Amino acid sequence: MQEISSLSEMRAWTRAEKSRGRRIGFVPTMGFLHEGHLRLVDRAKALADRVVTSIFVNPLQFGPKDDFNRYPRDLPRDRALATERGVDCLFTPEAASMYPTEPVARVAPGPMGDVLEGKIRPGHFSGVLTVVAKLFHVVQPDVAVFGRKDFQQATLVRQMVRDLDFPIEIDVAPTVRELDGLALSSRNSYLSADERRQALALSRTLRAVEQAWRGGQAEPAALQKKGMETLATPGVQPEYLALVDDELRPVERVTARTVVLLATRVGATRLIDNVVLGEGIAADPTVRS
Ligand code: AMP
Repeated sequence: MQEISSLSEMRAWTRAEKSRGRRIGFVPTMGFLHEGHLRLVDRAKALADRVVTSIFVNPLQFGPKDDFNRYPRDLPRDRALATERGVDCLFTPEAASMYPTEPVARVAPGPMGDVLEGKIRPGHFSGVLTVVAKLFHVVQPDVAVFGRKDFQQATLVRQMVRDLDFPIEIDVAPTVRELDGLALSSRNSYLSADERRQALALSRTLRAVEQAWRGGQAEPAALQKKGMETLATPGVQPEYLALVDDELRPVERVTARTVVLLATRVGATRLIDNVVLGEGIAADPTVRS
């Protein structure tokens, strides 16, 4: 596996690979890799000839009260996992080369960036889209893979690629969960044993809403209420639970395409999760945390 931190070397690597006719797949991450990230690598390998994974904890997407400084980092472990999974190039830019000066021009996500996560974390999605646009310009992939775990993020990236004519295909992969339903996240490493148990309220809630819908309840308000009741357990502070369509608009009638999105705090840790009702959530027996 190649490891590159310079932006110009990254561009040169892609140029050389493309000149040999190879298709480039890209998986952007903030590192502290887990099976969810590695599954995106598998998909990128199936869709392209060479796979680039980036590791960059992007300061622009963290608010002043967010966990930028304590966000988990372990490059040696990430390097080993990426090598083992067949990543061809690990791109690890420094903040000083990504942002030599505070960027003035930024990508504005528009109204879809102001709801749900964006409402609680003002400026977050502008930071996300700005770094994704920069990484796309540097890596120049043919296809980029994102996780449905961050549904709003994936939706906004698709929108940006359409609106700004990036010649990049966007693939969105299902959420990888532990056997008990908890969605994998680098932030799960913050959880104490008690909090880890309390955090099961997220997937339990999504399942409860899904079951109620399968049982015939199609009123969004009733499903929202059901979800909030299930979520309200000791140690869990709900932030939102919303039923939206694939453009993040609240639905009037619930269908198989409706997405249930939720965010909570468990202790000091913010966790998000979601389910597309028609697909349901499935634990993955192969996942070990
Ligand atoms: P992050 O490192 O948290 O910024 O995530 C990098 C990419 O991995 C994003 O596209 C996430 O949506 C995706 N991802 C994170 N957790 C999971 C998961 N449990 N299953 C699938 N994809 C995930």
